[in-house]
Amino acid sequence: MRDEDVSNVQTRADLATLPSYVPGRTIPGAIKLASNEVPAGPLPSVSAAIAVAAADVHRYPDTAAGELTARLVDKLGVPASEIAIGCGSVSLCQQLIQALCTERDEVVFAWRSFEAYPIVTHVVGAQQVRVPLTEDHALDLDAMAAAITPSTRLVFVCTPNNPTGTTLRTAELLRFLDSVPPNVLVVLDEAYHEFVNDPDVPNGIDLFRERQNIAVLRTFSKAYGLAGLRVGYCVAPEDVTTALKKVYVPFSVNHIAQVAAIASLDAEDELMARCREIMVERVRVRDELIAAGYDIPETQANFVWLPLGERTAAFNEHCLEHKVVVRAFVGDGARVTIGTPEENDVFLAAARSFSR
Ligand code: PMP
Repeated sequence: MRDEDVSNVQTRADLATLPSYVPGRTIPGAIKLASNEVPAGPLPSVSAAIAVAAADVHRYPDTAAGELTARLVDKLGVPASEIAIGCGSVSLCQQLIQALCTERDEVVFAWRSFEAYPIVTHVVGAQQVRVPLTEDHALDLDAMAAAITPSTRLVFVCTPNNPTGTTLRTAELLRFLDSVPPNVLVVLDEAYHEFVNDPDVPNGIDLFRERQNIAVLRTFSKAYGLAGLRVGYCVAPEDVTTALKKVYVPFSVNHIAQVAAIASLDAEDELMARCREIMVERVRVRDELIAAGYDIPETQANFVWLPLGERTAAFNEHCLEHKVVVRAFVGDGARVTIGTPEENDVFLAAARSFSR
């Protein structure tokens, strides 16, 4: 029988002040536009593959994810040795830092950007270097280049940027890549790549083919609709993928996730057609928000950013009263996922009735 709630075991002192990753909330009866998920559930073909895979869960999964890797080789045209599968791309973010950094090594990223970057950097024990966004809510590549020091091992470049939706253009990214020392890995986090329709936004895989120090992160969580199964991948030079596989928690990408990812690649045309519907809605939602007086940066992702500053918490509450869950970054802004047309209408009505 224990008589204390807290043990005397010594956990790392620095973790006491580290905030945990805060996921988007699910509230029964409310529309969730808080986690950049796609609104539709799995395709029948993907559900069927999941059901078949469920019969094998008494076996360990293929820890090398060989079949999924082979399918990505066909899709991307890069060798298997340059692909690492991970338990969501967030896991690959952490693995990349573990693979490249020890204490005192620096990880550069824009801020605000993906919430997990500071957390996983801290957990690994490396140093964070946060570079403010431009006034237009975009990555400031000149400032990011200037932030690189001899201690920098890795730079996260999130494009489209979560949570602002802004993207980099080919010329500016190439100029940045030219300025980065060859021993620094530039990680192009392309979690929202499939929602990009601006031809001037670079494709990380093309850049990877031409350069030595690039890694590209992609995920099955967003456009492929498998957020609940946790599978993503990293394309990187072989020495990097070899290191990523060493820090991988064995078996962490489960069998059902691997099979569902393969079935999603089989159904890519259907899934991308669904994404195009979201992209049409993205334009409508942004236009209607602008017409309602909001300042909304151009977005190439499946979400919009409302830079509301001090009014963010009030906006969040107002949306909750209208049964819409958005993602609030208090004091900064709100990120709102594009849902179905009906869901978007409920959100737009809430946004229109908010007094700023
Ligand atoms: N990168 C970015 C930019 C993201 O927004 C997310 C998810 N919010 C991820 C990586 C991680 O996605 P997952 O782990 O589901 O693949």
